[in-house]
Amino acid sequence: MHEYSFKGFFLRYKKRYLLGIVWLALVDILQLIIPQILRDFTDNIQAGLVGSPELIRYAGLIVLVAGGTAFFRFLWRLYINGTARRLERNLRNDLYQHFQRLSPNYFQQQKTGDLMAHATNDINAIRRATGPGVVMLADAILLTIATISILIFTINIRLTLIALIPLPFITLISLKFGQIIHKKFKKVQEAFSNLSDKAQENFSGIRVVKAFAREEKEIERFQVSNENNYKRNVDLVKSWGLFRPLVQFFSGMSFLIVIWLGGRMVIEEAISLGDFVAFISYLGMLTWPMMALGFVINHIQRGRASLERLNNILDEEPDVYNYPDTNYKINELKGEIKFNNLTFSYPDEDETVLKEVSFKIESGQTVAFIGRTGSGKSTIARLILRLFNSERESLYLDGHDINKIPLETIRENTAFVPQDNFLFSTTIGKNIAFHDPETDLELIKQAAREAAVYDNINDFPEGFDTILGERGVTLSGGQQQRVALARALIKRPDILILDDSLSAVDTRTEETILNNLEEIMAERTTILIAHRISTIKNADKIFVLDDGSIIEEGDHESLLDNEGLYYDLYQKQLLEEKLENQ
Ligand code: ATP
Ligand code: MG
Repeated sequence: MHEYSFKGFFLRYKKRYLLGIVWLALVDILQLIIPQILRDFTDNIQAGLVGSPELIRYAGLIVLVAGGTAFFRFLWRLYINGTARRLERNLRNDLYQHFQRLSPNYFQQQKTGDLMAHATNDINAIRRATGPGVVMLADAILLTIATISILIFTINIRLTLIALIPLPFITLISLKFGQIIHKKFKKVQEAFSNLSDKAQENFSGIRVVKAFAREEKEIERFQVSNENNYKRNVDLVKSWGLFRPLVQFFSGMSFLIVIWLGGRMVIEEAISLGDFVAFISYLGMLTWPMMALGFVINHIQRGRASLERLNNILDEEPDVYNYPDTNYKINELKGEIKFNNLTFSYPDEDETVLKEVSFKIESGQTVAFIGRTGSGKSTIARLILRLFNSERESLYLDGHDINKIPLETIRENTAFVPQDNFLFSTTIGKNIAFHDPETDLELIKQAAREAAVYDNINDFPEGFDTILGERGVTLSGGQQQRVALARALIKRPDILILDDSLSAVDTRTEETILNNLEEIMAERTTILIAHRISTIKNADKIFVLDDGSIIEEGDHESLLDNEGLYYDLYQKQLLEEKLENQ
């Protein structure tokens, strides 16, 4: 169980927090001294005791106090806010580590945007509760108690009690407005992210927009979104605009009382003029802690809610992990694969995707799967890689139940070119050497040659250092597929799975690649998944899948003789080819 708690945070860094609060207290004490100096000064001026030397002494004193305040303020920021930043960093690292451990299934069920929001908003809320929240709370308590004590003990208890009456309203207002403003602020954020999403999507899809002549409509859509963003912002401005005058109103009421009651007391000589000046100055100091108390309650509430959400995420266990009966001695694979009456549904789905599938692939064979879209080909690949769990005793690698083989063994000894291949926004070389960034350039080049993409890469001025993605070049579909293939080949895997990985490559290049593969994979197992018969016709064995079941198997010739689905597919593709060549 992952249980992060505020108590745990504070205990872990208790020294830094305690020191931070000490610095904070020193700032407060220094601030509280200033009105005392003012009072002394006023009373002495009134008594005609102030000359030039005394003026300089007072000024020097105030400068000294101000300097001390600045110094200790720097320190508490470093100790408290700095510690909160440390917490933030640790939390974010933990969260990212956790995300990396989770199974693909988790990411399929969560929206990327939501995950990003947890990593930003929730962690920010926790940081604010453990940084500024702590400061405000400590400050509010220290300042309020100290100020009120000074007022009562050194000036006048009756005046103090009456003057304080309006102040709790400030706390209430800041509590309530804190909530309102937070809600509106969230709306502003939403509106803005909506706006930037729209723009971003439009830029990425600009070719589609132009091709369909939708520019005007897109401009309108943007304007609607932008208008919404504007309205939300004005809404927020209005709330702030109301908040400040309200606070000022109540602190003004306090001052009114002091001027009315306190003024009379000075005339009646119940308090001195200096007392009066000090009182006003102390009262001014109370507005902030009163406001802070309201904010603090909000910060802590939000922080707790975020912490709970984060704990829930961190409690999420990966679906796929090494079971207790994992046999860690298995650290190599020969590449024999056996499906034994395997039936499979995706987690939390009702549809049975694979139905009692049985087959055996000998190590070193090249085997192909073909079948209509949605027939379950990619699912078979995902199960062999254990990206999803399969039932016990239904899938064996080298005769071991896949559920007993360490995940690391499976992942290190297999290579997969997924159907929706993904390249990172870095250089082509680094993409190919993804499994080991230290790989020798010669090996990278060799893999590129094997995947028949070497010449394409060399045509770029930067060669293997060409950067891909947003800030770099865009590869054609076929080039992308071949770079992804090179990334798989460089691993020299025991089991290589190509999921429709040559679909965007022309048939001649495909033939070259398949010839290369034959040599590289001579003693290794290769699984080809394809829609095109040309890709797979030389495979040792071909399985035809339909609706989750294997309905035919054999080599190309025997399948043709069979005159089943494979034969139909073949005839259709022959016809298409003829039409194309006309
Ligand atoms: P294609 O030729 O289009 O790639 P395929 O034969 O590879 O198709 P699969 O991707 O294995 O088909 O999908 C088989 C069935 O499983 C489909 O009905 C699909 O909707 C479903 N399916 C695939 N992936 C998932 C998933 N991650 N979660 C839930 N259902 C899925
Ligand atoms: Mg597929």
